[in-house]
Amino acid sequence: PEKGSLVLEVEGIRKVFGGLVAVNDISFTLRAGEIMGLIGPNGAGKSTTFNLITGVLPLTGGTVNFLGRRLDQLRSREIARLGVGRTFQHVQLLPTMTVLENVALGAHLRSNIGVLSAALHLERRGEAELLHEAARQLQRVGLGDYLYEQAGNLALGQQRILEIARALAADPVLLLLDEPAAGLRYKEKQELAQVLDQLRAEGMSILLVEHDMDFVMSLTDHLVVMDFGTKLAEGLPAEVQSNPAVLEAYLGG
Ligand code: ADP
Ligand code: MG
Repeated sequence: PEKGSLVLEVEGIRKVFGGLVAVNDISFTLRAGEIMGLIGPNGAGKSTTFNLITGVLPLTGGTVNFLGRRLDQLRSREIARLGVGRTFQHVQLLPTMTVLENVALGAHLRSNIGVLSAALHLERRGEAELLHEAARQLQRVGLGDYLYEQAGNLALGQQRILEIARALAADPVLLLLDEPAAGLRYKEKQELAQVLDQLRAEGMSILLVEHDMDFVMSLTDHLVVMDFGTKLAEGLPAEVQSNPAVLEAYLGG
């Protein structure tokens, strides 16, 4: 998609778990080449929002449009195949396999991630090409020197970037990253920010859940703040940062 064109339109989405309204009428849009931050206290509904967009959970209500196509009736594999990649809040790697194998093969072993569709696609092209594509993605994110290292031996920051490379192997248009900077050291966060910045420059759209405000403020073009399932605020990072309701949710709770 052309830079600035509409990639994702989330319209009034809602998720009820038993008696709990985890996501309550959330709407936002994301444009090509934009990094949008989704922030809010623990339990606000951020990960659930990701699970609704990616078809991991069925919606209770609302619609999701991606490049003008309804996603909300599709299964997660279908959504991934259309170009929505994601990472999960907790690292999901195969620690005893190599970095290269994780990108090339990890997709086969996971049900909910759409890299599977890429892998199926790649299967036809043969294993050599699959490995070649994996290596290309790893070089793209700066992990080209670690192809034959065991994934479990990488530092946490590198593991998070490895997960991004695995998502990239499916050739997504949109990446959803759930707390990619959690637990990282300052230097690792800077390296991660550099990778995300580069992906944005290449035209990728990124939706990012993150708690580190310095990280969020320096990297995102646009922010949505959630609290108790609802949208509390939205706007440019600087606007949101000085919003009294946001300060209250973070400091007053
Ligand atoms: P966040 O990612 O913002 O911390 P979550 O989306 O994980 O928040 O959770 C939002 C709310 O929904 C929380 O109260 C959480 O306990 C609840 N929740 C999340 N997933 C489920 C589930 N599968 N079943 C029941 N409740 C859930
Ligand atoms: Mg979460």
